[in-house]
Amino acid sequence: MKPISSDNSLPTLDEAPRFALSRVDSEQAPRFTRRFRTRIFFYITALSLATSLTSAGIFTWRQTIHIDLDRDRRAKTLLTGLATHADIAAYAGDQALCELASRTTLDEEDVGMVAIYDRRGKEILERSKINSEHPAPDPQAMRLMLGNPDAAPIKIPRATFHDLYAPIVTFVRDPADAMVEPGIGSLRREVVGVARVGLLLEQGQRQVIEVILWGVYLAMGILLLGVFAAALISRKVSRPVAELTLGADLIRAGRLDTRVNIQSKDEIGQLGYAFNRMAARLAETMAALEALNRDLEAEVARRTLTIQRAAAFTALLNAPVRQRGSSAMAPRMDTGEWTVMGGKMLPTAHASGRASGALAQLLDKALRALMEGSESRAAAILLVDEESVEFALEVSWCVGVVAREIGQIPTEDELSREAAWYDSRRLVVPLHMGDELAGCILLFRDSLPPTDRVQFATHAASQLAIAVSNVLAYAHQIHLARELRERNVALAKQRDQLEEMNRLKSEFLANTSHELRTPLNAIMGYSELIADGVYGPLTPEQQDALTGIEESTRNLLTLIDNILDLAKVESGKITLHHDEVELRELVRGVLTEAAPLAKHRPYQPELDAPRPVTLRTDGPKVKQIVTNLVSNAIKFTPEGQVQVAVGQDAGGQAFIRVRDTGIGIRPEDQRIIFEEFRQVDGSYTRTYGGTGLGLAIARRFAELLGAELSVESALGVGSTFTLRLPKEPPAPTTREVPIIAGPGAGTGPRQTRRPITPPPVPPLPPSVRKPPRP
Ligand code: ADP
Repeated sequence: MKPISSDNSLPTLDEAPRFALSRVDSEQAPRFTRRFRTRIFFYITALSLATSLTSAGIFTWRQTIHIDLDRDRRAKTLLTGLATHADIAAYAGDQALCELASRTTLDEEDVGMVAIYDRRGKEILERSKINSEHPAPDPQAMRLMLGNPDAAPIKIPRATFHDLYAPIVTFVRDPADAMVEPGIGSLRREVVGVARVGLLLEQGQRQVIEVILWGVYLAMGILLLGVFAAALISRKVSRPVAELTLGADLIRAGRLDTRVNIQSKDEIGQLGYAFNRMAARLAETMAALEALNRDLEAEVARRTLTIQRAAAFTALLNAPVRQRGSSAMAPRMDTGEWTVMGGKMLPTAHASGRASGALAQLLDKALRALMEGSESRAAAILLVDEESVEFALEVSWCVGVVAREIGQIPTEDELSREAAWYDSRRLVVPLHMGDELAGCILLFRDSLPPTDRVQFATHAASQLAIAVSNVLAYAHQIHLARELRERNVALAKQRDQLEEMNRLKSEFLANTSHELRTPLNAIMGYSELIADGVYGPLTPEQQDALTGIEESTRNLLTLIDNILDLAKVESGKITLHHDEVELRELVRGVLTEAAPLAKHRPYQPELDAPRPVTLRTDGPKVKQIVTNLVSNAIKFTPEGQVQVAVGQDAGGQAFIRVRDTGIGIRPEDQRIIFEEFRQVDGSYTRTYGGTGLGLAIARRFAELLGAELSVESALGVGSTFTLRLPKEPPAPTTREVPIIAGPGAGTGPRQTRRPITPPPVPPLPPSVRKPPRP
């Protein structure tokens, strides 16, 4: 225990608060301007003052009351005495007797005046020591005294005395009884006069002044005692507090050996004891903390170094490596030679191995960093031989050691079992890529490395494994990219060939169609001539055969027309002619032309067009789309209803809707029906004829017009095909068509292709009419 005292160059107790304040001030603490001791002193002094004043006040008040009571008692005694002595004198009205009776009373020091009045209130005697005042008797008091023998004495306060009155009573016998026999008869009390005494106040006032003086002495005495007690208590109480304050401040300032010396058996002493224990505990804790801090600093320094090494190693692995050669692995190199890396001779040691290019660069840099980090003289890395069927490690790179000197190669079992181990003057660190064993690193040094060096090597190994895998993956990617480039070139060549083939196909189709049309038209013309009997009359069998020829020829012509249309669209040869077109009239025309198709049907197609709809578009193309839709609707609706609606939707877009209650289309078939030559029933035994081109052409035309053709259908319920036309025709663009028409055509990438020109159609013989398109 080291008490605070002046000899250890600390401030004295009186200076302590200031000392504490100055220290605290420097840290911008709140300002402590009052002293605890002064406050206690003033509190107790104020309390003493209040006590002294109260005591003096109470003392004076009680004494004054006693003085007053005394005076009243004395007044009563004097009056009673005077009245008793003067009863005969008053009864007799004799002044001399009255003089005698009142002398004793007047001789009293505090009696200033004596007077006796007879039963009528007339003055018998009046003697006074008071020169200035001779007040006449109070009439009311006189009346009261004379009227009642039992009246209590009355006091009337005057300026310098109390004016006191009492009745003078005597016992008298009834005169009638006295006449009969003296001494016999009843006595009665009778007022025979009034006694008056003037009791001087001077003596009482002197007594009061004396009492007040004693009160003041009392107050001063108590106050003095209080001040003395305040000084004593404040000193007693504040001293330990000041000592504790100073002690706390010194501890805060770092003087942990500070102790307080408080010799007291009460709570203050307990506080001092607790303070000292706390200070001792604090000193112990601080010492422990300092020791811990020193250890921690050393640990932090060690870890910082490890982290720095790891960071440097990571940076090294992440540094871009220059790609040299196409492969990361090259044939086994001659070992034990000095190697030139990056145009420089390797400065420290031999560097060799099977790796080459980027991998060799990476392994060389990594091994050198590992050697430095683990303070090894040489290093080697062994990677799993991917080409070997069984597990085998091959020396991929060595620095400072040649492959034949690396010693025994660790087994797969050892590498899978241990994290790292030291044997034969080398540290063996396994390399893992994920869960797979990728090889190991050998670090050659003459002693077991410290733990942190082993940790560094282990951590670095896991990073190196990733880097090696990345380099290998990168090399593999480069290889793949090269292959991909070669395949792209081949594909581009194929694409050009296909494009050319497609162009030739379209040309062939256009030419063939044209070549087929000419003889077919001729066949139809000649058939009609025969049917008309130009070449003689016909038998009914011949007529039937001719009808068959005509029908087959018409179908063939339709097919050829369709193929020609498609070829034209594909070749981009179609030119659009936009004009004002009234859709209701257009549809009416289509229905008129399609009427023969429904001649064997139990219904006729209906038109639902309440008002005309006019817009700019290519009329013939729209007509062909609607013709194809209507002819399909009639074809696939053996009985029921076909209705064509023309109108505009809420947004003002024109539409033509062909609705039938025919066989309907399954949802999965609705996707394919717009493709060329696709039919829901494509079998030879199908019920309905057709080529599978009508909807394909309709959709191609719709696309050209900027329109949209869609279908809604349910099997066995019917189908609705809707053509939505744009308000304005689309701006003319260079049309691109797919290279290969087929499933998915029109949605995949498009290539611009050279247009083909279909040959002109030769005119029909004058007598031959072109049959209506079915
Ligand atoms: P097709 O010449 O065969 O009619 P389309 O391209 O016009 O060729 O139609 C393709 C196929 O779509 C038809 O074979 C038919 O199976 C189906 N299809 C077209 N329109 C209808 C329809 N209104 N009702 C039912 N099936 C239809």
